[in-house]
Parts: sequence; C-alpha cells; structure tokens
Amino acid sequence: DEAITVANLAKQMGVKATEVIKKLLLLGLPANINQALDFDTSALLASEFGYEVERAGFEEEEVLQVQQDHPEDLRPRPPVVTVMGHVDHGKTSLLDAIRHSNVIAGEAGGITQHIGAYYVQLDTGDVVFLDTPGHEAFTAMRARGAEVTDIVILVVAADDGVMQQTVEAINHSKAAGVPIIVAINKIDKPDANVERVKRELADHGLIPEEWGGDVTMVEISAKKGIGIDDLLEMVLLQAELMELKANPDKPARGHVIEAKLDKGRGPVATVLVQEGTLREGDVYVCGTYSGRVRSMFNDRGQRITVAGPAWPVEVVGLSGVPNAGDDFVVLADEKQAKAVAEHRQVKQREKELTRTTKVTLEKLYEQI
Ligand code: GDP
Ligand code: MG
Repeated sequence: DEAITVANLAKQMGVKATEVIKKLLLLGLPANINQALDFDTSALLASEFGYEVERAGFEEEEVLQVQQDHPEDLRPRPPVVTVMGHVDHGKTSLLDAIRHSNVIAGEAGGITQHIGAYYVQLDTGDVVFLDTPGHEAFTAMRARGAEVTDIVILVVAADDGVMQQTVEAINHSKAAGVPIIVAINKIDKPDANVERVKRELADHGLIPEEWGGDVTMVEISAKKGIGIDDLLEMVLLQAELMELKANPDKPARGHVIEAKLDKGRGPVATVLVQEGTLREGDVYVCGTYSGRVRSMFNDRGQRITVAGPAWPVEVVGLSGVPNAGDDFVVLADEKQAKAVAEHRQVKQREKELTRTTKVTLEKLYEQI
C-alpha cells in the first residue's frame, strides 16, 4: 500500500501538519492529520512544498535498461527514409512512383495498405519509407526524442523552388543530423528551372556535388516516372556509406509511427521495429500502455508473426491508442510491463493535475 498520512508526509517534508492541512483545504480537499493520502494527492502536495514523491521500489530505467550489443551480433538493416518538402511539390506523387518500383507490390494481392510506413524491395536492396505527413510527424517524433529516420529525401519542385517548408525541412534534418538527398521534381514542366533550385538550395547551405559540395541532387519527374530509379540508387548508396546495422536476436524495441482507434479492431499502431525481433504474443510497454501483441500485419495487410529490424508493422490489440513517437519495448515479464505503464500513467496524471491545480489556485488568488 502506497498511502501516506498527512502527519507522515508533513514530517518527511519538515513542515507543520497544519501547513499541509491548510494546503489541502486550498485544493478543496479538507483532511485531518491522520488522513491517508493517495499517491497522486501526496505527489501534488509535495510539489507544492518543492518536493518530489517517488514510488517506492520502482525505477523505470532499470526495467527498460538497454543492453549493449556485441559487434558480432549486428546485421545490416535497410535504411528508413522520410520524404519531406513544401506542400504540392510532389511528396505523395513520389511515394506513389516509388511504390510502383516495388517488386513485391506487383504480386497478386500486393495492394499497399495505409499504415504510415512501407517496405520497398528493390532489385538492388530494401528501403523503408515513412509515409506519414512529412515533417509534422518528423518534428513530433523528434520532440519525443524518437530518432527513426536515417535519410531524408527533400522534394523541391523545379517550377517553384525553395519555399518556406523546404527551409523548415532543411533545418529539421540538419538539427537531427540526418543526411539529405534532394529530389528536384517536376522537371517535365516547361517552366522548370533546375539551376535556380540549386542556387536557392546553395543559399541554404546545401551545395550540390557537381558544384564541389556534398549534397546529392537528382532530377526527377514523379508524374512521368523519370529519375526515380536514380534517386533510389542514391538512397541505397547513402545507406551503404552509413553501414546501418541492428541486432535482430533480442527482444524488440521501436517507436510508434502512427496510431488510431479502428472501429472494428480497436486501437492499432504502426510500429517501426528498430532493433530485435517482434513476435506475436510478445509482452510490450508502449507509451502509457502495456499488454501482449495480439496480432501483427505488414504494409500489405497480410498477417505476420515475426518482424525484424526496420520492419514497419501494424500491431493490433493494444490496450489503448498511443502517440506517434512513443516507444515500443518488449519485456520478458508482464508484471514489469504493467508496472512501467502504470508508473507512466501516474506521471502523466500528475502533470495534468499540477496544470489544472495551478489554474484553480490562480483563479482563487484572483478572487482574494
Ligand atoms: P505533395 O503535397 O508534396 O504531396 O504534392 P503532390 O504529390 O500531391 O503533388 C501536387 C501536385 O503536383 C499534383 O497535382 C501532382 O499531380 C503534381 N505533380 C507532382 N509531381 C509532378 C511532376 O513530376 N510533374 C508534374 N507536371 N506534376 C507533378
Ligand atoms: Mg501529399
């Protein structure tokens, strides 16, 4: 039992019990000196006095500790690529064109489902594309400390040039230290001006290779299917230089790419497995939720039972809808997973409670 009495809490903080009772009254919670306080209330009170209450015997970091990989356990993995660029410059069109280069998409029943990410098998190698709306998702994930992208393809329309969201995408990629490959799109248009685009990009620090810089720029037409293979080749070349590797032989870890409440299936989330292998039935903690993986699907809607590094999978049967950017960690012990999730829920509630209480107190003081 985690309850603590008013007297005890006061003693531990070195303040008078009457001070605590006064504070409780101010919060609209009349109490006597022997009253037991639940964790949320005591945590809130403690923060009012400048203290932090910790749950006895629980340290999330210990449970979720990352085990160091041995170099010999690492295997090459496909690159994870995000397409960014100004609105209407052709991000969606490019992703569609790439989907057509996918050798598996041509198979019977190979219709790509929208799960926010997809796995492309090319003759020359595999690439994973994040399909979520451009840099909003990228930024949201970065804000949560989730680094999921290895390479950014920056789409710039040759008839429009560098625009506001182009610059934002450049800044986000640079801040994340993610290499950029530029796709100069819409070269089929009569008013396309590739040289102007290169000049404008150079003004923002992206110097094309042919000018002595280090940024690969490929001229494409997403609509006409021109230059798509060249672009993909450059992506694979860049990936090769990065020597991307992961250990597939351990419990999975990854991040949520997107999540929603599905009418028929309940909460579903697209999870990018970043290391280890995810299996049906695995015990997970995901953001503030925990449970077991009931079933998984690939980007073609096919049921799968295992997913290794760089695989995007749709996980069905979650206990709630997580946020994009939340972590997804497989644990051996269901109790532990539950403890981590509950600990996070409490922390989240504390934050919300502190926020609303502050507002209430401010209102109260206004009236005095
Ligand atoms: P997004 O907002 O970046 O996803 O851009 P879309 O892919 O939706 O493209 C915006 C518009 O540009 C659409 O009308 C496309 O058909 C058109 N478009 C995209 N790529 C090309 C291209 O290579 N050539 C031409 N002419 N039009 C294109
Ligand atoms: Mg689009």
